[in-house]
Amino acid sequence: MKHTSILFQIVLSLLVVATVVGLAVGELAKRQEVHRLEEHLKENADLTVSLLSGMMLEAIIVEDVPVLETGLTEAVTRMPQLLAIEIRNPSGRVLAASSAPEQAASDTYVMYERPIELEGASFGTMVVKWSTRDGKALVNARVRQIIIWTVVPVLALSLLVLLLVNVLALRPLHRIHKRMSGAIAGLRSPIRPLPWYASREFRALDFSVGVLEETFAERDEREYAMEQARQAADIANRAKSEFLANMSHEIRTPMNGVIGMAELLQETRLDEDQKMYAETIAKSGSALLTIINDILNFSKIEAGKVELTPVAFNLQTAIEDVVTLLSPGAADKGIEIAMRYDPALPEVFEGDAGRIRQVITNIAGNAVKFTNEGYVYIDVTGRPQPGGGHVLQLRISDTGIGIAEERLGRIFRAFEQVDTAATRNFEGTGLGLAISARLLELMGGTIEVTSEPGQGSEFLLELPLKEGGTVEARPPSASVSFAGLRGLLVDDLELNRMILSERLSSWGVKSEAAASAHEALEILADSQLTGQQFDFILLDYQMPKMDGRQLAERIRAMPEFRKVPVIILSSVEHALNRSDCDAIGACEFILKPVRAAQLRQVITRALDRAVEPTAPRDVEEVQPREIAKPVSVLLAEDNRTNQLVVTKMLKDAPLDIRIAKNGVEAVQMFREHRPDIVLMDMMMPEMDGLEATAEMRRLEAETGSESCPIVALTANALQSHQEKCLRAGMDDFLSKPINKKALADTIQKWTRVGDPDALKSTGT
Ligand code: ADP
Repeated sequence: MKHTSILFQIVLSLLVVATVVGLAVGELAKRQEVHRLEEHLKENADLTVSLLSGMMLEAIIVEDVPVLETGLTEAVTRMPQLLAIEIRNPSGRVLAASSAPEQAASDTYVMYERPIELEGASFGTMVVKWSTRDGKALVNARVRQIIIWTVVPVLALSLLVLLLVNVLALRPLHRIHKRMSGAIAGLRSPIRPLPWYASREFRALDFSVGVLEETFAERDEREYAMEQARQAADIANRAKSEFLANMSHEIRTPMNGVIGMAELLQETRLDEDQKMYAETIAKSGSALLTIINDILNFSKIEAGKVELTPVAFNLQTAIEDVVTLLSPGAADKGIEIAMRYDPALPEVFEGDAGRIRQVITNIAGNAVKFTNEGYVYIDVTGRPQPGGGHVLQLRISDTGIGIAEERLGRIFRAFEQVDTAATRNFEGTGLGLAISARLLELMGGTIEVTSEPGQGSEFLLELPLKEGGTVEARPPSASVSFAGLRGLLVDDLELNRMILSERLSSWGVKSEAAASAHEALEILADSQLTGQQFDFILLDYQMPKMDGRQLAERIRAMPEFRKVPVIILSSVEHALNRSDCDAIGACEFILKPVRAAQLRQVITRALDRAVEPTAPRDVEEVQPREIAKPVSVLLAEDNRTNQLVVTKMLKDAPLDIRIAKNGVEAVQMFREHRPDIVLMDMMMPEMDGLEATAEMRRLEAETGSESCPIVALTANALQSHQEKCLRAGMDDFLSKPINKKALADTIQKWTRVGDPDALKSTGT
């Protein structure tokens, strides 16, 4: 609705009032005037009748008609209002009559009948027809005048009111409104006092607006100060992040020397004491590095600098990677890591694989760290989400020392270690869980913990993930169908039996499980009686009373099971070697933890061998090998220690390493002698790694030659930095301090030339 101005509203109201008053007054005046007219006409008629009858009495008495008619005609002619007149005798007969000419006959009129009397005697009646035209015109004129005389003062009064309202109310109001708008808009207009005649109410309103103006001004000042402070804090925060990134770079560079050299030192001939010292240096270096990484990680999260990079990844493989990573440590402590991946759950999801792996490594790592006997169990399930995707549920439980109830609430806080005294035995920064919880939160997930001191802990992670198509092609063995096969599982740990039989049944294998070697032998003896066969037997190596190898030998002693494939799982690396397996016959040995894909492969291989027993073959041996030729490596690195670390780490590998001291030299050498791979330090004098890479890529484009893999050696752990490397045309990066295995793996990955085993053997 359109809002009208108050002036318009007042004018409209006044007009309405004036009209109503005019109409009412007009109507009243009209009634009064008509009444007066009627009275006047009556008087006139009476007067006329009495005059005429007086004058013509004699003629009436004698009924002298000609005289009467003359008299009446005379009267009609003389009086224009008199339209007609007649005289009747007492018996009612008309004695004489006269009427006005035609045109007047159409006038409105009134009629009067009056008796003709003299001293009480009646001599007949006189009837007069009186015109009211002039009277009415007069009345109308009067009424009009009266209306004008009332409406004009009302209008004049209205105008006066209008003027007063404008001056006394609207103008002060307008000024206050302007001031208020200014205050809201943040403008401080110069204060103009209200006019002297402004009323008390407006002064009070103006005062309130003044107070408001001041409040607003204070608020604006505060906000401005806050904005300033925020900007300052932002700058400080950026500076802090940069400082941390730089510091981590500065610390990592010498750490590279320390850890690398300590690792190399351990490989030289040392006496017991020296060995212990070297080990301590290496261990302390690694611990320090973990701390630096944690702090860097945490401050990045705190500074809101973490960007998630969702990609399609295989969740099962990612978790298996974590288990593989943690298994050697667990095996050293004599505990096992079991993992179950719900066969109903898809394998490929979309998410930040690196962060997810980091979180799982952290929690599972803690579980291993705080468990001295028993096992760590990772159970992966999920429930479908209504809008697509799954809510992943990851349960990581252990049989370790547990966490006291009153401390449960605090473990996700930064720098919080449950028991400072207890943690002395378990080094750490107390940041791991805080980082994990915050990362999960960033990804929309949650983490909860339940624990019983002395019994163990259970961490439940929930994370919504979208499903993500396919990542890499499955190994060909995955397509081999196991449907309808029968397998026997022997493991003393129930959890392992459950996981394995579930995995096998998801491939269509029917399995029977035995909790000990004796039970297994009983089942086999029974099957001999019923004539049922097993297509393969899966044994755990570490079992009480009779271990896997003894059991395998006992199985071979039974004639029916001389050729059935036997697969031995062990968490100890050198429990069996190739010749032990050959001695048992049709035997495969795998190191726990076993990945699903690997298990499939091994079972396939074992079944293959069983089919062709005469020609045992090693799958790896069948694959054609490249003719050995040394891989040429160009190392661009200015730091002497780092040159030494890298070359020493690679000294056993069949590599031809050339060293460039800076970017310019590296480009020069690249031009003269195209290497198979370039290891490029980022910070070098004269020309840094990024520039040198760009130059090399330019050379390749010029000569149209194949792209040479360039791997950055960077001390900067920030992801943005790594992205910068990749953008500059590098293919991969290795974080300093460089670890021997990672170095060997990377060279192997990018060159695929030479003897992979020889390269691998350089890794620990
Ligand atoms: P830290 O780097 O010290 O391990 P975390 O944040 O990872 O720091 O863990 C915090 C504390 O929570 C640990 O010091 C430990 O006391 C306790 N904690 C974490 N996980 C477990 C577990 N699985 N069993 C027992 N205690 C645990």
